[in-house]
Amino acid sequence: MADKQVYRLKGLSCTNCAANFEKNLRQIESIQEAEVNFSAAKLTIFGDATIEQLEQAGAFDHIKVYAHNQGTPRIPVYKKRENLLTLSSLLLIIVGYSFYFQLGENHVATVGAFLLSIIVGGYDLIRAGIKNIAKLQFDMKTLMTIAIIGAAIIGEWAEAAVIVFLFALSEALEGYSMDKARNSIKSLMEIAPNDATIKRGKQLVQISVEDVRIGDTMIVKPGEKIPMDGIVREGRSFVNQAAITGESAPVEKKVKSTVYAGTVNEEGALVVEVTKLSEDSTIAKIIHLVEEAQTKKAPTQAFVDRFAKYYTPAIMLIALMVMVIPPLLGGEWQTWMYNGLAVLVVGCPCALVISTPVAIVTAIGNAARNGVLIKGGIHLEQLATINTIAFDKTGTITVGKPVVVEVNAIHGTKEELIQLAGSLERYSEHPIARAILKKAHDVSLLEATQFQSYTGKGIVAFIDGVCYKVGNAKLFEGYDLPIVSGGTVVYVGSDEQILGYIKVADQPRKGIKQHVQKLYQLGIVKTVMLTGDVENVAKQIGEESGITEVKAELFPEEKLSHIKRVKERYRVAMVGDGINDAPALAEAHVGIAMGGAGTDVALETADIALMGDDVSKLADTISLSKRTLRIIKENIILALSLKVVALLLVIPGWLTLWLAIFADMGATLLVVANALRLMRKTAEIDSHSRDHHEIT
Ligand code: ADP
Ligand code: MG
Repeated sequence: MADKQVYRLKGLSCTNCAANFEKNLRQIESIQEAEVNFSAAKLTIFGDATIEQLEQAGAFDHIKVYAHNQGTPRIPVYKKRENLLTLSSLLLIIVGYSFYFQLGENHVATVGAFLLSIIVGGYDLIRAGIKNIAKLQFDMKTLMTIAIIGAAIIGEWAEAAVIVFLFALSEALEGYSMDKARNSIKSLMEIAPNDATIKRGKQLVQISVEDVRIGDTMIVKPGEKIPMDGIVREGRSFVNQAAITGESAPVEKKVKSTVYAGTVNEEGALVVEVTKLSEDSTIAKIIHLVEEAQTKKAPTQAFVDRFAKYYTPAIMLIALMVMVIPPLLGGEWQTWMYNGLAVLVVGCPCALVISTPVAIVTAIGNAARNGVLIKGGIHLEQLATINTIAFDKTGTITVGKPVVVEVNAIHGTKEELIQLAGSLERYSEHPIARAILKKAHDVSLLEATQFQSYTGKGIVAFIDGVCYKVGNAKLFEGYDLPIVSGGTVVYVGSDEQILGYIKVADQPRKGIKQHVQKLYQLGIVKTVMLTGDVENVAKQIGEESGITEVKAELFPEEKLSHIKRVKERYRVAMVGDGINDAPALAEAHVGIAMGGAGTDVALETADIALMGDDVSKLADTISLSKRTLRIIKENIILALSLKVVALLLVIPGWLTLWLAIFADMGATLLVVANALRLMRKTAEIDSHSRDHHEIT
């Protein structure tokens, strides 16, 4: 495959145009494959072409092409070519009407002004429409073009001009609202600085983030935005990570903490080792995933598209029948021609076609701004129908940072036990391992070999030729274990005997009970906690968090089979950290990962990722999904019922072109305004997250 190139687009006005643009691009010799992402206004090509060539392929829609990293200039609304043309056509209509009242309806000047208005405002539309008619493609533009030409033929110049103007206005509105919805992501993109201060030898140099290498040392001063992902090597500060996690409370950063590009360093200077290239940073990944998400079609949208495909030709057929049948039965052909045109205008599916995408794109953008990554409209729609939530315990219900609370040696000293456990846990990623290592931080660890990790059990390794084990009772089958009551117990032993045990404890998250309560208020009927931990600990945490069902001592594959079982009767979402519960996340109707900023796995395996550690976002997101689904339904019903009512008016002959125009325009306006409501956080949710803000 040839080189992949990504461009940003400006001026792309409709999904149909995107498809045509793609088609034109594929005809360019040097381009093997082209993909236009309408919602993200992005073009990906495999091959080679100049910007001029690309723009020429998009000339029919006046598409402007920009290099991916250049950032598109924001053209003010009043300077956009389409908007200026639309405005001119309105002015010409006003001129037309003043002639109409002074000189009469059929005066040359009147007709001329209206005709000019039609040409100015409708040039692109009519050109596209006529092309479509020639190719027998019946879409919205075809419909409108026939209506406009028909109205002109029967001498209704004023109506024709107004149809043109209103269609142009609704297109401008569509462009404006999609832009607005996309902007939430663009503002994320502008978030990371372009330059970084890097230490080269003894000198500090200011260089472009593209030239920074992994392993470089970066200096971030107080008040500055962090330009790259990295790990703190010196210094201490608080960092506002709202851009990524949506949580506005600053997070403490000290040596070894991870920092993210685009977040704001508030107090101290930090010396950071760069760990990721600029294009691989967490924020870049989020932007990429959100852009992908906004283009994926939600089920409702697919339905609307399919519907529009049959609906548009059907309307044309009805219009034709209205024009032909009554005159054959003795009606006045002029009147019925007029009625038929009105049917065409009413039939325009503009409102219907835009109803779903605006809502989905707006909602996904809103979520992204609040630190929630939704990887497609389909997940948003699925989430709205969930009635059961399964939680992983560690790191989801609990803070996920267990601490050692007790060390008991049976043979040897406590120090030896900790040293041994630490030497084995050194290579484990498990939160328990981190707790033990913390306890062992001032002990010199031993060299362990042939390290093996048993998921859901623990670790086995060799030290000086002797086999040692650290883990739960399952790992020590056949041993004579001491009975230890309460808490999570980690046994330490050799091949032959048990040497002692370490007790660890993890805290439930602050406010978890209220968050779970909130889920019940949102219509969740069942909550389950799935964990590999022992029964008594699991039960206690279940009680403290208000979760109704607890399944303990599960292996990861048992978490999966449990989800499968619940799925038979409920619509289930699984919430986890994505580390050892990825299969369960994938199996659930919706897989939700917590702490997405920290782990790439979580970002990749989940359908929805909460970037931060704030559980309250779960309820917020469910509530957003419900609002979105409700608004989509309202929009579809609104768009269709307005049209049906207007269409029925044809029978008594009450439908005028004017009524048709206003029904169409009104529907589009209402639908867009309704969808843009999703940009707001609701007051209720706002106060909710403020009340239970986490300080962890
Ligand atoms: P969960 O995510 O619900 O805690 P896991 O499958 O990660 O479930 O772990 C289950 C249990 O396995 C832990 O509670 C612990 O007893 C044991 N375990 C797993 N890994 C380790 C380890 N590295 N060290 C000690 N115990 C471990
Ligand atoms: Mg886990």
